[in-house]
Amino acid sequence: MSKYYLLQDSERCIGCLACEVHCKTNKGLGVGPALCKNTWVGPVDVKGLPRVRFVFMPCFHCEEPWCFKVCPSGAIKKRASDGIVYIEPALCIGCKSCITACPWGSCQWDPVTQKAVKCDYCKDRVDAGLKPACVTKCLTQCLEFGEAVKLPDYRRDRFAKLVAEHAFSTETTSP
Ligand code: SF4
Ligand code: SF4
Ligand code: SF4
Repeated sequence: MSKYYLLQDSERCIGCLACEVHCKTNKGLGVGPALCKNTWVGPVDVKGLPRVRFVFMPCFHCEEPWCFKVCPSGAIKKRASDGIVYIEPALCIGCKSCITACPWGSCQWDPVTQKAVKCDYCKDRVDAGLKPACVTKCLTQCLEFGEAVKLPDYRRDRFAKLVAEHAFSTETTSP
């Protein structure tokens, strides 16, 4: 698995699709391929009100990527340093095997270049100490990117804050 995680707090996602727009802009992609995708689920009836949820899906940078295994030309690479899976465009022969093989629909077809494209966590930005374009431009900051070893502490801190806020509010409202 990649050493990074990219998580969405779906409670805070408003479905604005700024993540998709900025991903495309950063990669210079036109109509068609979406390297990250926010998919609607719903509407469902929740206590008499229609509710939808948005589920954010980039590439999962699998430990043993299906796309990597089926590529006949060696165009799909997995970085030894951090596990990011990416496509080397010059080596892609446009066979679409990776698109067929990825169970998550992450490999996409670019009709302009006639080659496959996929999310690479914006590796150039990551190498420069920045976060992926989708994360940086998320309007509600509901996307979180970082090193997986730090995720449990991040989650614990967040949970601790909620517990403390609840305790403080109970103290200040008690007679
Ligand atoms: S494109 Fe699909 S198979 Fe390849 S690393 Fe991403 S999620 Fe895994
Ligand atoms: S479309 Fe390109 S990247 Fe995908 S399997 Fe074929 S050669 Fe490899
Ligand atoms: S930019 Fe953020 S809030 Fe907007 S759709 Fe994407 S994940 Fe949701």
